[in-house]
Order: sequence, then structure tokens, then C-alpha cells
Amino acid sequence: MADVLEAVKVSRSFDVSKPWLQRMLSRSGRRSLRAVDEVSFSIPKGTTLSLVGESGCGKSTVARLAVGLYPPSSGDIRFEGQSLSSARAQPALRRRMNMIFQDPYASLNPRWRVQDIVAEPLRAFGMLRGSAVGDRVGQLLSQVGLSPADGAKYPHEFSGGQRQRISIARALSSEPDFLVCDEPTSALDVSVQAQILNLMRELQTRLGLTYLFISHNLSVIRHMSDRLGVMYLGRIVEHGPAEAIFTEPRHPYTRLLLDAIPDLDAAGGVGRVRAGVGGEVPSPIAPPPGCTFHPRCPLANDRCRVERPDYTQAGPVEVACHAVEEGRG
Ligand code: SF4
Repeated sequence: MADVLEAVKVSRSFDVSKPWLQRMLSRSGRRSLRAVDEVSFSIPKGTTLSLVGESGCGKSTVARLAVGLYPPSSGDIRFEGQSLSSARAQPALRRRMNMIFQDPYASLNPRWRVQDIVAEPLRAFGMLRGSAVGDRVGQLLSQVGLSPADGAKYPHEFSGGQRQRISIARALSSEPDFLVCDEPTSALDVSVQAQILNLMRELQTRLGLTYLFISHNLSVIRHMSDRLGVMYLGRIVEHGPAEAIFTEPRHPYTRLLLDAIPDLDAAGGVGRVRAGVGGEVPSPIAPPPGCTFHPRCPLANDRCRVERPDYTQAGPVEVACHAVEEGRG
């Protein structure tokens, strides 16, 4: 299968030298924050790559880089082999990629009728005119399980799950090939989450969509993913087939993350949560030297404190860890 999206050693830094930012950051004196650090991945057509990690690990920045909302500071993002940074390529490519945001309350304009919200990309890209726009909006609403008559209503007349269906209809209106889904169900009730995830999987199969899926919820990730990237402080530390990582995680951080999933069969009781990752995520303004996970890692040694680990192939997955390379992890 051909790759739809490819990231090649993509990094993204942000300027934090402004005085008001320095006040928030306790006058660190640092001038930039590296939110994404040499991230590489590819997503074959019709598949889902998920990124998982704690808050602040850089996954939402990768999401925005992937649809061209941020330019990379270095490295390249390619859509079907074409660089997003090529200014000439952007207008044509932009129609073919879209984003579904986390909060269906904030991402829909409350003063617009649903038909205008869903039609906006059609008009912006000059795809349809006149009555054809209304017909297409009706089709899109039906496709996501709403009624064409819902187009005349306003967002506040819908539940959270229905609003996320409207967001999906809008994201699909420009007939994209690639969708970035940034925590698309985390603002929804648990009972509604499964319906939205199943709708997204059904649309993927029917329309041949390719997803970059961002979540901190490992149960959701397992349901959605073909491949998985585990991020820590801006870097992908483990990357490979999702089922292989869930079955036999190799990186110490991945193992601790998976330990935090409620264990329904545990002897300690239904829903018991095991230890999880201890300690705080270090500041990305001043990340620890060597392996940035070493202050929290139970397998850290002297080498880990000074030397940044390269990737080691461990079966079907790539892992950035000295312990795995040395055969002690
Ligand atoms: Fe732990 Fe060292 Fe591996 Fe980092 S490189 S995850 S500190 S064992």
C-alpha cells in the first residue's frame, strides 16, 4: 500500500523568549521549546496510525504539523510524496486533508446553521454551487447518521455526540483522503464514544480514509489503530504494529503506560488500576540530558543519564532505549 502521509525527521520548536512567557516559565532564560523532536513515521493508505502519550508529549503539535497548520522547524512532511512546505502545492493539497477536533462544542460556530457549517469547505474550495451544495450537505449528514432536515438547525439543538457527527460531516465535505483526529471522543460521554469511534471506522472502510489518530486513552487507541507511536517529551520512543506493542511492549515508558489501563480481570478487584508512570513529566523547556525518560525509568543506568538512545529494531517494533539494545529490557 502506498503511503499517504510521511514525516521525515520532523522537529518543531516554539519561541518562548517573550517576557510574559518567561514570567510563566520562572525566567528559565531559554529562548525556545522543542515540542517535537525528529519524529518520523509513514501512514499507508486506508490505515490508522495513532500517537499516544501524556499531556505535553507533543502529539497535538504533530497533528497540526501533519495538516500544515504549523510548518516544521526542520525535517519534512510529505503528502503522497509531495512536500507540504512547497508553497505551490498547498492549495491543492489542503482540500485533501482535514482535521476533527476534540471539542465539538467549541469547534462549531454557534451562530451558523448546520447546513452552512457543513457547506463551508465546499464553498471555500469552490467545489459546488447553487442547489448542488444543499444536496451534498444532505448526503453528508445522512452519511454520519443525521437527517438532511437537521441542516436547518443550530449546533445548540444537538447533543455532544450529534455535534461530533456534524464535525465529521464538515471534515468529509471536501472529500479528503486524510483526516487528523485529535482526541475526537475525549469530550464525550463514555456511552457515546463507542458510537463515534464505530462511525469513524465504518467511514474509513467505506471511503478508504487514512487517519492520524491522537489520544491519551489507550483503550480507544487499541480499538482504532493499525500502527502505534508512543511519544515522550516530543520524541517517538516506540513505534510499530499496534497489536505487537499492546501484546509485548518493549520501552519502559510504554510498559508503565499500559500498566495504567484498568485491569478488569485483576484479582485485586474489577477496574483495579496498576501503578502507571510515577513522577512528573519534566519541563520541555529544560529536558533532562541523555534519555529524557531517565528520571522516571526503573531501568536507567549511567549511560542513560548522558547518552540519547538511538532506535533499536526489536521484532516488528522500533524502540529508543539503551536497555532494549543491551538486552536487559
Ligand atoms: Fe530507561 Fe535508559 Fe531505556 Fe531511557 S534508555 S527508557 S532511561 S533504560
